[in-house]
Amino acid sequence: MSSSPDLSQGVNFLPMGIRYSLPRLELLFKRKAAAYVAVFAVLFLCLKANQFLFFHYDTSPAVLFIPTGIALAAILLGGYRLATPIAVAWFLATITSPGHPTVLFTLLSTIGYTLQAVIGRYMLNRFGYSGTLGRTKDALLIVGVALLLPIVGPTLTTIAQWLGNSLTTSAWVTFSRAWAGGVLNILVFTPLITAWSTQSVDISPRERLQSFTALACLTLVTYLTYWTALPTYNMFIVIYLLFAVLFWIGLKLQPRFVAAAIALVSIFGTAGSIVSPTGIIPITEQLLSDELFIILIAPIFYILGALVEEGRINAEVARTRAREVEAVNKRLSLDDQAKNEFLATLAHELRNPLAPVVSSLELLKIGLTEVNRPDLLELVQIADAHNLTLTHLLDDLLDVSRISRKKFKLQKVSTKVEPLVEQARRTVEALYSIKGHTLFIVLTEPDVWVEADPLRLEQILVNLLNNAGKYTEPGGTITLTTRREERNLRIEVRDTGIGIEQEMLAKIFEPFVQTSTHSAGLGIGLSLTKRLVELHGGTISVESPGLGKGSTFTVVLPGAANVQIALAVPAHRARNEVSRGGKVGSKAAYRILIVDDNVAAARGLEKLLSHGGHTVSSVYNGSDALVHMQTNQAQVVLLDIGMPDMDGYTVAKLLRQQFDTTALVLVALTGYGQEDDKKKAEEAGFNYHLTKPVSSIDIESVLATVDFNTPSH
Ligand code: ADP
Repeated sequence: MSSSPDLSQGVNFLPMGIRYSLPRLELLFKRKAAAYVAVFAVLFLCLKANQFLFFHYDTSPAVLFIPTGIALAAILLGGYRLATPIAVAWFLATITSPGHPTVLFTLLSTIGYTLQAVIGRYMLNRFGYSGTLGRTKDALLIVGVALLLPIVGPTLTTIAQWLGNSLTTSAWVTFSRAWAGGVLNILVFTPLITAWSTQSVDISPRERLQSFTALACLTLVTYLTYWTALPTYNMFIVIYLLFAVLFWIGLKLQPRFVAAAIALVSIFGTAGSIVSPTGIIPITEQLLSDELFIILIAPIFYILGALVEEGRINAEVARTRAREVEAVNKRLSLDDQAKNEFLATLAHELRNPLAPVVSSLELLKIGLTEVNRPDLLELVQIADAHNLTLTHLLDDLLDVSRISRKKFKLQKVSTKVEPLVEQARRTVEALYSIKGHTLFIVLTEPDVWVEADPLRLEQILVNLLNNAGKYTEPGGTITLTTRREERNLRIEVRDTGIGIEQEMLAKIFEPFVQTSTHSAGLGIGLSLTKRLVELHGGTISVESPGLGKGSTFTVVLPGAANVQIALAVPAHRARNEVSRGGKVGSKAAYRILIVDDNVAAARGLEKLLSHGGHTVSSVYNGSDALVHMQTNQAQVVLLDIGMPDMDGYTVAKLLRQQFDTTALVLVALTGYGQEDDKKKAEEAGFNYHLTKPVSSIDIESVLATVDFNTPSH
């Protein structure tokens, strides 16, 4: 039922991102017979070495009881089945001991120490010991198990000695020596074997060199401590050196090197105490103090090593996460880019079919006025208003995608506010009259100028007025107030409309957010307005007392004054400058050639302009335009840019080369109205640039500004 890791199963329960290969011993243990023989042989030899030392030197058996730690490690790596070779080795080694133990002692010793290893494995697995010492939990677990587990074996052997009357000292001393030895051996040998069996995949040459140097230093210091008489002269320097090297290993090397270091100090140190005794302290006492010293320092350095390793792993995990986040961000930004490009293309493609609709509606309006059909004219006007909304939506979409792609530049100039307000008023006039709204315009100072892109400021005003109109029940009141506050221009649009819920106020400027079912549009108007305001260095905010209680949008723009601040507005700009509601007219008649592969759009425009008194022809590709110009030279060429055979730029260049006339006016018609497109058009020889769909008013306004004093042939 436990989901704790089982070393014998080779489960990888290390933190993510750190890989270890299969434990080496496990490979050996996979071959059952080899594992049995190996465990039996190692334990038997250890027990024999133990007995040799015990009977030839005056040493406590506890100190040298290495097999306890080895038995636990073997059963941890190889599974419970290895209890058999452990028991056999224990039994045979004990029964053949030079001390001639009783059968009872042999049996209880065998049972006790085998059971001890089995319980040890259960406890460690139960609490999820990883075997690597790479986690603080591992370090604490091995220390805890090392302290508790050796109660089992020594208890049974002490009882056996007591029953057999073979105790050489008190039962308590016999037990505690064996227990202390067990603690030491589990503390030293179990983690050493398990940590080195879970082999790290790669270790850099630098790490290899560092490990080698550190262990060499430790060997030297251990030699000085346990094999020479140095400690008798200066104990502190010896301890200091030993700790310095152990700290170095704990802080810099992997935890398995810490285990190796502790094992090195205990084996090499104990050997030194036995082979080269100081002669001052009895060997048993010396060994006991060595043993306590190791029991004391091992947990400290295991925990230190584990903490450092955890830090290393966490840092590695954090680095991996950071890389993942970076990759996700990159993907998101690519997706976002693709989405923006898609929006731009979509808006562009949707403009093309709008072009013939605009021309047709205009023609219809003219025709219906002539035949005096006000009833039908009203219908056409409604269609025209919807068409206009659609065009604005597409413009907004394009602007949003351009701002997101950072392809958007403001053309800030010193702009008088009043005419822009008037322009905006005219734009929303139709909507307001349909809905029966009253619009109040309050210009607290009439002669206010602001540093702004006039086209965009007008767009901001139109968007806010439009929304106020849309989201107010018929017959509402909308008030537009402009006020100069020192260097700021404050614009307020207040309506008596449906209002906005408190919790929506903060979200309303997010793209695609709509507050209610009343919403009509794409939900990008306000987000675009906010971005435009911010591009001007200004702020926008909204207030509403609640649903049904109206709303107030406030825009604050910097750079206001009541004198002109900078240079004049440049001439022809996209979003076709001249508003549909404008009254611009050139009453002269011209020879006009329309070049557009969209036949319906070309024909519609042709009819419209013909109706205005011009002589208009249409061709549907670049080559035909060149041919047409040979025989029938036009004064104005309205040239579509995206055409399949030859694009508008090429046609314009060829026209400029072949027809050397300064009186030829080239007007580019494109779906995109970006600065780049305009620049390209200018370089190709265009005089004007209009964004589709164009109306006759747009074209007439262009013609009105053209100087045709130099007549063409
Ligand atoms: P759209 O009007 O295309 O839905 P906008 O970004 O212009 O998108 O507006 C977002 C939402 O904010 C609208 O759908 C509407 O719910 C709400 N809203 C905008 N202006 C007003 C207003 N003056 N009064 C009430 N709600 C408004």
